[in-house]
Amino acid sequence: MKSYRRELWFEVPSRRGFINITPQVEECLRESGVQEGLVLVNAMHITASVFINDDESGLHHDYEVWLEKLAPHEPVNQYRHNGYEDNADAHMKRQIMGREVVVAITDGQLDFGTWEQIFYGEFDGCRKKRVLVKIIGE
Ligand code: ZN
Repeated sequence: MKSYRRELWFEVPSRRGFINITPQVEECLRESGVQEGLVLVNAMHITASVFINDDESGLHHDYEVWLEKLAPHEPVNQYRHNGYEDNADAHMKRQIMGREVVVAITDGQLDFGTWEQIFYGEFDGCRKKRVLVKIIGE
């Protein structure tokens, strides 16, 4: 069995943002040489997410509005977690958007459903953060 590991680094220049990381994951898959197997992609930070959905700007705006309704950033003193930090909302946004995705690899390709793409979701940005890509298979 082949095994491959790589960390991808992202620095989103704003508090929140979404990045389509499918091209980077496909590059990892090519490097791994795996034809049949599984890829795990997970955020290595507790205020960021990795998730799968459609690459559509209206939808990304809708996520932003929805997540701000569920866990508004302001006022920061509404959260017990905040004191030294101001990112309680980012922990909650990460919780609902998820930590990781697993995608099947078939014939050396990511075996997606229609319109599926992999995204990095940042909820406490303006600093460098990592995403782990782990690929196993033959
Ligand atoms: Zn925190």
